[in-house]
Amino acid sequence: MPVEVQARVEELRSLLHKWNHEYHVLDQPSVSDAEYDQALNELIRLEEENPHLQTEDSPSQRVGGAPLAVFEKVEHTTPMLSLGNAFNEEDLRDFDRRVRQAVGDNVSYVCELKIDGLAVSLRYENGLFVQGATRGDGSIGEDITQNLKTIKSIPLRLTKSASIEVRGEAYMPKQSFNALNEQKEELGEEPFANPRNAAAGSLRQLDPKLAAKRNLDIFVYGIANPGTTGIASHSEGLDLLDELGFKTNNERRTYSGIEEVIEYISGWVERRPGLAYEIDGIVIKVDSFEQQDELGFTAKSPRWAVAYKFPAEEVVTKLIDIELNVGRTGVVTPTAILEPVRVAGTVVKRASLHNEDLIREKDIKLGDYVIVKKAGDIIPEVVGVLLEKRTGEEKDFHMPTHCPECGSELIRLNEEVALRCINPECPAQIREGLIHFVSRNAMNIDGLGERVIAQLFQEKLISNVADLYRLTKEQLVELERMGEKSASNLIEAISTSKNNSLEKLLFGLGIRHVGAKAAKTLAQQFETIDRLKEATVEELVAINEIGDKMAEAVVTYFEKPEVITLVAELKELGVNTTYIGPKPVNVEDIDSYFAGKTVVLTGKLEILTRNEAKDRIEQLGGKVSGSVSKNTDLLIAGEAAGSKLDQANKHGVEIWNEERLIQELNK
Ligand code: NAD
Repeated sequence: MPVEVQARVEELRSLLHKWNHEYHVLDQPSVSDAEYDQALNELIRLEEENPHLQTEDSPSQRVGGAPLAVFEKVEHTTPMLSLGNAFNEEDLRDFDRRVRQAVGDNVSYVCELKIDGLAVSLRYENGLFVQGATRGDGSIGEDITQNLKTIKSIPLRLTKSASIEVRGEAYMPKQSFNALNEQKEELGEEPFANPRNAAAGSLRQLDPKLAAKRNLDIFVYGIANPGTTGIASHSEGLDLLDELGFKTNNERRTYSGIEEVIEYISGWVERRPGLAYEIDGIVIKVDSFEQQDELGFTAKSPRWAVAYKFPAEEVVTKLIDIELNVGRTGVVTPTAILEPVRVAGTVVKRASLHNEDLIREKDIKLGDYVIVKKAGDIIPEVVGVLLEKRTGEEKDFHMPTHCPECGSELIRLNEEVALRCINPECPAQIREGLIHFVSRNAMNIDGLGERVIAQLFQEKLISNVADLYRLTKEQLVELERMGEKSASNLIEAISTSKNNSLEKLLFGLGIRHVGAKAAKTLAQQFETIDRLKEATVEELVAINEIGDKMAEAVVTYFEKPEVITLVAELKELGVNTTYIGPKPVNVEDIDSYFAGKTVVLTGKLEILTRNEAKDRIEQLGGKVSGSVSKNTDLLIAGEAAGSKLDQANKHGVEIWNEERLIQELNK
């Protein structure tokens, strides 16, 4: 079994474990649900493909999070489970197929809105509410009876003297959620990422008076142990819940075919924004209890239900302005300034528009209403314009002809779409270059963020990277919002960075085309900045990974008089200019099939990620290239490989599948 798969499984488990804890226990997620779902699905897939890797404590087998120690624990007599997910129509049809295979074609589905809140269990004895609990890890939850009593729609006494346990979703209506977050922002507190976390945070307050202020509500959606009630289906159960005085959601519908279910779902994609509460999907449940019993459960969820998750949220907002930013390399980027709007859990105010061509392509004008989403649920992006909302007042946007910071003329290099300022003295470029120099992959100077750099630059305390090493504590304390302690820490961090290995300095200098990885290769090969300075284009291109463009950029860079002075200054100030990392292994010394070979990866790999495959091949002395040529020695063809496979055939290149690759890697 490949070591990489095991390593990846372990990595995913530890990430998911951390995210689960943040989400379910701390009510403070650090990643989006889409990112979480993606990682979980990858883990499930790897475990399915490698059954011997499955363990009972894997996040794929577990529900929710551990209960908090501050509350009394409640053992659930019937477990509170999670739901399997569907992300598209195909997943829904697969679900339907599995159901029909097990119980035949006579199936009805109940569709319900998937309320974005917190699952709770409510226990009634002889018609009286006696205990309420969170789901916790599915078997043991937290006793939050007192807090639940503050939700006015939870009946303290039922219409009949029944002894029953019901399940429902406690939630915070959109309006209360927005008001609460505004209040939190005003107080300088971290806002809740989503209504689910807000509801969970409120119900897990130790003081019920605080919970009472949070305006929570509930929809009850099921009976824990319906066998005792004499009813035969989920829909009858919901009707019974109504009769008993519970608040159920009346948007539920029952359908006999999956196509109707899909239609119901599409309807909600549009109607969703009009609801007073947040939903994150639609839950589909097999109606008949007899069929539910036949289908049974997995460790984590019932086989008779599935949760369809809506795709990444898109919202509409107004584009107020387009701001121009000059980057480190002089590229001028237009950025949309938006009327603040909440998308997938955070407030979005800006989104990059990349370049003028893209603005034309999307026909974006100043004052337009635009659709915004988060790419990969993380980076805000303007998807398009609502043309029907145009009033005629919108204004065309044109890129300037001159740099907004230094006024010099902007040019387009070669075929680039980007406009650039090529004035080396441009203050914006210098400032951005300084920010790059201190960033994590470069000199990694803690406490020296964009704001401080901008201040130092503005105050003319620094004008190049060498100046950073001349700063004194006295100068720093003069800055706004800089205390004695932070100033000493900063001086200390700057001083520590002098000891960095050469690759960090090289990357930090921002030589064109030289990324963090190339910087490392250069540092390993030349060992000192003085030797690199003397390198010729021929010497540079002789190194694996260094192409013509980069070689020329390096030579041109070190020829500049200001660079020669800068390097001398840095040395004088005590900045290390030598490589101090581990010695690179000589390709000739590596005993591996890949040593010295050029390999191309194409198609979809199933077990390794592209990066993993690349790293492993490189560790074994191979070079991974992006395109097939006569110099290619080997093509790794994953699923659905296309034109590269044809080219490899044409050039008579050796072709392997992923399995063969893994075999060789593991030798
Ligand atoms: P789930 O939210 O996918 O589905 C189960 C839950 O749906 C139930 O427990 C119940 O609370 C709720 N629900 C709402 N309406 C319902 C209805 N009508 N009928 C039945 N149930 C209904 O599964 P989960 O295990 O609760 O949580 C997983 C979710 O949490 C995923 O969406 C995941 O993205 C998210 N998550 C995110 C992070 C993060 O860090 N962002 C971490 C962990 C989990």
